[in-house]
This record gives sequence, structure tokens and C-alpha cells, in this order.
Amino acid sequence: MAGVYLSFPFCAQKCTFCNFASGVFPEELEQQYNAALEDEIRRHCWQWTPETVYLGGGTPSRVAPETLHSWLGLIPGRPWIEATIEAAPGGITREKARAWREAGINRVSLGVQSFVSDELSQTGRRHTAETVAAEVEILRREGIANLNLDLIAGLPRQTPASFSRSLDWIERLGVPHVSVYMLEVDEDSRLGSEILKGGLRYGAGKLPSEEEIVSMYETAVQRLGNMGLARYEISNFARPGGESRHNLKYWRMEPYAGFGADAHSFDGATRSQNAESATAYVERWKNAQPSCVGKTPAIVEEERFLTGLRLSDGIVLEADEWVRFAKPLERFLSLGLLERDNDRLRLTGQGVLYSNEVLQEFLHA
Ligand code: SF4
Repeated sequence: MAGVYLSFPFCAQKCTFCNFASGVFPEELEQQYNAALEDEIRRHCWQWTPETVYLGGGTPSRVAPETLHSWLGLIPGRPWIEATIEAAPGGITREKARAWREAGINRVSLGVQSFVSDELSQTGRRHTAETVAAEVEILRREGIANLNLDLIAGLPRQTPASFSRSLDWIERLGVPHVSVYMLEVDEDSRLGSEILKGGLRYGAGKLPSEEEIVSMYETAVQRLGNMGLARYEISNFARPGGESRHNLKYWRMEPYAGFGADAHSFDGATRSQNAESATAYVERWKNAQPSCVGKTPAIVEEERFLTGLRLSDGIVLEADEWVRFAKPLERFLSLGLLERDNDRLRLTGQGVLYSNEVLQEFLHA
């Protein structure tokens, strides 16, 4: 069964650590974007009925409920087994939560990143821990109890002790799903590019050490486990049955259709990608050009390693794959980064910490 992804790349502010193609854009562009996105969904020829929908961004929680209603009304399959909206803490009201539920949304993913004010103020976020707690309560009262909270390990001014304070809040709020991401350092975020050039802006001089970040992640694995939230993917933790049905499709290489700027699609054999920026996406729409700017055949076997090995369950290899990938397999098995259980292969606890290196090797094998 397939999934649908809708992209809304508009935000109230651009967070210093964010490396997505999202940001603050003129109001006029946002209106044109909304019309272009609706048009793209309307024109889509549905070959299958989706069972999951995911509104990501950006900050789709900023979309007016009527607009959201129109978009979701064009997608078949309602009620979906899972329909998620990403939200930035600080704007969730009872009216909004009710409108989401009426539009078919049954899961909210809150990009909290941290519950510690000293860390948040450095990133451009304005919410407090109390705001998050109040909004979790509103969502539950309005019938949306399937909640995810995102945390980042590695933020400026963060320490293992302050990270533990965020985990204390997670425990207090008792949500069924938590994602813990490591800070990504690259040219696409202001913080990342400041770190790379050795500058001090955005708190780049106050980062925790690599050992501290690893210790935060390991603490998260242990403490979330004690809360009944088992790691089922490198960055994702859930109560039994609380796993994200939509995101599992990416890791299991099931098909999905993406709409909007920088949205990707996969039909089981081919990957395609829409124009990356909101401006380019709207320009193409105005010029009656297709939103898709590129298609590439998927290299299914290799990609299966990249995505499937992220899951704690790992992947089952065919006899010829054990032969074909013998070299990297032997190396990582002997280093204790991978483990074998009959035909099943998975990352070990240590392997998870080196997952990028391990997974990339299979792509080039
Ligand atoms: S982290 Fe979220 S809210 Fe901040 S700029 Fe990125 S997409 Fe927008």
C-alpha cells in the first residue's frame, strides 16, 4: 500500500540548524504555492489508493484549515490509517486541532527539538517546554493522541545534563513516538556553514563534543527504552504499534507520491523529484510546466541496504546477495558493526553509531 507526501516549505522563521529547502517567503508566493499544490494534486492520476498521508515542510501547521481541507479532499482513501501533520510548537489551538481532525488528520509530529530555553533561544525557536506541554494536552483533548516529538542531539549550548532535561519532559508527556536526530553539519544551514568555516555565530563555538553527542544518543536509547519506546529505526522510537506507518514505507521501499516543492516520489522502480525551491515550483506551475524536474531508475538492491538496514529488524538477504556483497559484509560482521541471524542482517548497537559509513559502503559495493 502506498503513501502520499505533501510539502509546505513555509515557516515563521528560519531556524539556524535547519538544512531543508524551507524558510520565510513573501505572502504572495505562499498564496501562489497553495494554488499550485492544489493543482498538482488535482491533476494527479491515482493508480492506487493511499493508506497514509504526511504533510511535511516547512511548517504545514501554518496552513489555513480551509486550504488543508481542500488539499486532503482531493486525496482518495479517507480515512487513512495514518495522516500526519508536522507542527512547530507555538501555534496549536483547540480550533486548529479540531479542524485537523475533521480534515482526516490523526497524527501530529511536533518539531520540539529541545525543551531547554537556553538551547532554543540560540536556534531561533521561541517556544517553551510549557507551550509544548499545553499543546500536547490540547491535541489529546481534541482526539489526536498519536503524537511524535522530535529532539535534536548536538545543539549549541547542549550538554548531556541539559539533554536529559528534555528527556524528562518526554517522560512526563508520555507520547507514543519520539524521533532523536543528530545535528547535521553541512552548508545548507546557517549553523552548519558557520561551523564548517570555523566561525562563532549561532552558537557554533558552543557545541557539545562528539563524545557528548554519542553519550546523549545512547542515553536516549536507554531512557526511551525504559519508557516503553523501543528503537525501531536509527532515529525513531515508538511504543509497540506506535511506529510511523508512513515513514516505514520509505525504509521498506514501498511506493509513495510526493506533491509540492522538493517532494520526491517512488513508484517501486523509478524515483522522481519536483523542483526544489518554492519559487522554482511556482514558476513552473505559472508556465504550465510539469512540477517534476528529474526521474532516475532506482537501484533497488543497493538502496534496500541503505534504507532497510536503518530499521532495527534489518533486512533478509537472498542467497546471491550474500555472495555479491561478501566483501563489505565480512568486514562489518568481523568489526561487530553488523550481525547475522540466519538470513537476516542488522546493525549492532555499535553499528548504529557508524551507520552512515556502513550503509554508504553497500551503495558503492
Ligand atoms: S526547523 Fe522546521 S520550523 Fe525551523 S526552519 Fe526548518 S522546517 Fe522551518
